[in-house]
Amino acid sequence: MFFEVIRTEIQAISFAPESGDFATWILVLRDNDRALLIDSGYERHAAAVIDHLGDSVRVDSVVLSHEHEDHAYGCRELPEAEVLGAEGFPEDVLVGRAVTEIADGARIRFGDHELSFRITPGHSRYHLTTLIDEAVAHVGDLLIFTHEGRPTPPYLSDAEALDDHVRSLEWVKGLAPEILVPGHGPVLRGREEIAGAVDLRLHYLRALGDASCAVGLEECWPVDVGEVGRHDFHEMNLGKLGMG
Ligand SMILES: [Zn+2]
Repeated sequence: MFFEVIRTEIQAISFAPESGDFATWILVLRDNDRALLIDSGYERHAAAVIDHLGDSVRVDSVVLSHEHEDHAYGCRELPEAEVLGAEGFPEDVLVGRAVTEIADGARIRFGDHELSFRITPGHSRYHLTTLIDEAVAHVGDLLIFTHEGRPTPPYLSDAEALDDHVRSLEWVKGLAPEILVPGHGPVLRGREEIAGAVDLRLHYLRALGDASCAVGLEECWPVDVGEVGRHDFHEMNLGKLGMG
């Protein structure tokens, strides 16, 4: 378990991968004896966070960036918590558990924190970005890095997702948060670093959108592809776009 303090009463807890390439984040917001989580990891990750918080802290709510198992399954360890997800969130992922749907632009307060939400499809149709106190953006898997910090190509949910993914990333760029928490990989700090990381993915997606047949990753990625993790995401994207 690895801890990073994002701001007062906002802590990010990360778990190194047991297998595969991706560390998982759970973001913890505290308000005295209550906690709100953003994403829940797998079951073992949520269980470790509950242990860490101790008996005196109750997890009231879990906001899920999207429905994929590495973000959502931890909710199974939190049967009493309210689960919040993007409008249309597929409840079968949580075995029929009720999910409170969050509309685009919705806001909630949690203790001293103000959370606002934006539906940001591309990686998933039901993908939610959370902005905390107008400064910290949790963007889920709109931006992905491997555990070693290598950027990966965006991963498209389906054949129609490319334009959505571009729009979602453009919105994140316009938001210009001070701190960006990706679904996997290092927390980014500073507008310049964040804009650079977003621009890489936008360049890739636009190049992919302009291509009429199967293109190599090196034709879409503007810098050294030797630094890129998970080249297979590119192959999967080509397959979804019918260019495999
Ligand atoms: Zn993920």
